[in-house]
Amino acid sequence: MLSAVGPPVTVRVPAKINLHLSVGDLRDDGYHDLVTVFQALSIADEVSVTRAVAGAIEPGVAVAGADGVDVSEVPADTTNLAWRAVEALARRVDREPDVRIGLHKAIPVAGGMAGGSADAAGALLAAASLWRVDIGREGLLEIAAEVGSDVAFALHGGTALGTGRGERLVPVLSRHTFHWVVAVADHGLSTPTVFGELDRLRARPEAPRRVGDVEPVLEALASGEARSLALLLGNDLQAAAVSLDPGLRRTLRGGVDAGALAGVVSGSGPTCVFLCDGQDAAVRVAAELAGAGVCRTVRVAHGPVPGARVVDGDGGP
Ligand code: ATP
Repeated sequence: MLSAVGPPVTVRVPAKINLHLSVGDLRDDGYHDLVTVFQALSIADEVSVTRAVAGAIEPGVAVAGADGVDVSEVPADTTNLAWRAVEALARRVDREPDVRIGLHKAIPVAGGMAGGSADAAGALLAAASLWRVDIGREGLLEIAAEVGSDVAFALHGGTALGTGRGERLVPVLSRHTFHWVVAVADHGLSTPTVFGELDRLRARPEAPRRVGDVEPVLEALASGEARSLALLLGNDLQAAAVSLDPGLRRTLRGGVDAGALAGVVSGSGPTCVFLCDGQDAAVRVAAELAGAGVCRTVRVAHGPVPGARVVDGDGGP
C-alpha cells in the first residue's frame, strides 16, 4: 500500500576530496587497503525523497544537473547509488522502498569527488527522516558502509581519517577553514580503471613513489596552516590518473602557475584541487586558471563543512 502524498525531505550533502591517499598493494580479494584523510567541501548535491503515491508519484529516481554539471552518465534507475541506499534502509526496517528520489547534482560526475556516494548518503538520511526510522547515527553509518566505501564519510563530513576501504572513520581535528580551487575536467575517469592502472604501474621496475606517512598531515591540519598542509598533499592514485590522462599534468601545473600553494588530483581524478593561501587568493587563482584553458570549469570552495544534513521537511506528521 502506498501512503498519502506528503512533503519531501531534502538533504544537502557535500563532495569530498582526499588530502592524503595512501593505497596499499592489491589484496587477494581484489581490494586495496587505504589510509586516507578526507575533507568535505562546500560543493554539494541536494537529494529529496518523497513518498510515492499510486498514479501520481511513481517510485524511482530523477536526476538534474546544476549549471555546467553534465548528468548524462548518471543512471536514473535502480542502479543509482541513491536508490541502492534507500533499498538497503528499507530492507533493514522491513518495508518497501516506496519513494521518489530527486537528485540535484553540483558535484562533478565521475570526478573523484564521490558524487554518487554523496547522493547515497543524502538519500539514506532523507528516507530515514521521511520514514521516521530510529536506528541512530551508528545504524545509518553501518548501512552507509555496506552501500559504498565513501558513503559513510559523506554522512560524517568535516575532516576524517579513513582506513579499510575508506569506510572506517575517525574524526580529525582541523583548525580554520582551508580555501580550495577545484578544476573540473570535461570527462570522467572510472575509479576501478584508475586502481587497475596503479597496479600496472607498480608492477614495473620504475614504480611510482608512494606518499609518506599520514601523521604530518594530521599535524598540519591541527595547526591550521595552509602552507604546511600544502607541502604534504599526496595521492597514490595521482600517477595512475595522470598516466591515463596525461593532460592532467598541464592542469596541475596551471593551478600552481596561477598562484596556488599546491595541487593534487582528487581521489581517482580527473578533478584537481588546489590549496590557496586564503579566500582572496582562491578567487584570484580561480580566475587565472579559468583563463588558462587547462580544464572545463573552475570552482572556488572551502572546507571542512558538515556532512549530510536535512535542509527542508521532516517527513510530516
Ligand atoms: P569516487 O570518488 O567515489 O570514486 P567519483 O566521484 O569518481 O566516485 P561518481 O560521480 O560517484 O564518481 O560516479 C561514478 C559512476 O557511478 C558514474 O559514472 C555513474 O555511472 C555511477 N552512479 C551511480 N549513481 C550515481 C549518482 N547518484 N551520481 C553519480 N554517479 C552515479
